[in-house]
Amino acid sequence: MATIHDSNVVIQPVRKVWHKGKVATLDMLRLDLLHPVVSGNKWYKLRLNLNYALDNQFTTIATFGGAYSNHLVAAAYAAQHFGLQSVGIVRGIQNELTPTLLHCQQYGMKLLFVSREEYTLKNDPEWVNDLLLPYGNTYIIPEGGANARGVLGAGLINRFIGSQYTHIALSVGTGTTLAGLRNALLAHQSVMGFVPMKQCAEQQAHIIPFLRPDRNTNWQLFPETHFGGFGKIKDELIVFMNDFYADNHIPLDVVYTSKMMYNIQQLLNDNYFNSSDKLLCIHTGGIQGNVSVQDKLIF
Ligand SMILES: *Cc1c(COP(=O)(O)O)cnc(C)c1O
Repeated sequence: MATIHDSNVVIQPVRKVWHKGKVATLDMLRLDLLHPVVSGNKWYKLRLNLNYALDNQFTTIATFGGAYSNHLVAAAYAAQHFGLQSVGIVRGIQNELTPTLLHCQQYGMKLLFVSREEYTLKNDPEWVNDLLLPYGNTYIIPEGGANARGVLGAGLINRFIGSQYTHIALSVGTGTTLAGLRNALLAHQSVMGFVPMKQCAEQQAHIIPFLRPDRNTNWQLFPETHFGGFGKIKDELIVFMNDFYADNHIPLDVVYTSKMMYNIQQLLNDNYFNSSDKLLCIHTGGIQGNVSVQDKLIF
């Protein structure tokens, strides 16, 4: 089994043919290289949660996600890695296990399927505790690792980021990673969050309470070209992903990082940046979610 280590992560320049010299530097932080399945930001959001579970004698962790959730599979792997049992509460009754859910099982996760209506109770402690009664002393991690320990853990990603970068770009789901990084980065470094959904008010509201008062500055969410909504795919996006790979040999994921880079290309074309700006785009991973479009990708 491939092991997870910070040393798997590299910073890779995006070629000038792609950014056309509209910024001084455009680099990508390849968190996707952390592990073939457990990639990107999820590992960092989980680490302090799992340490907490261990330190407080929990035997099991439970968390939530959909049938293609990068978070769920990362939680399954991380729990096994730390010697904890894991339970995944899955949104929607599934007729068949997706590749993501098969990986979860492979890493020892017990899957509990609940209807989409029931799933909306995911933040109701009474419902969750009832559901988890059979599993003993269980530490509950919210969907997406979106708690204070997740935020603090995401801040660990700052270890890879030099002070020379003026702009840090990343994809936003819950906004937990953005909050952690905003807190850890230098105040003058601009944080750009790209939201691959129809709106970003929920993320905005989630992020602000987690920010250190002296860091609630110099960050912005971009309600991006989302190609029809979260997880929606158009041929134009696939073409973009293949072109990006051909230029840079960097595989993007179809849900988050491809849409971020597409939007960054638009900003470059619109001369949004100064030519002296040094941009670092965070590849938050998620490649395991590309299976649904694998036959259309050249990588
Ligand atoms: C989960 C995920 C995100 C979003 O992370 P948040 O901390 O929830 O904002 C971004 N990119 C990828 C590839 C992800 O899997």
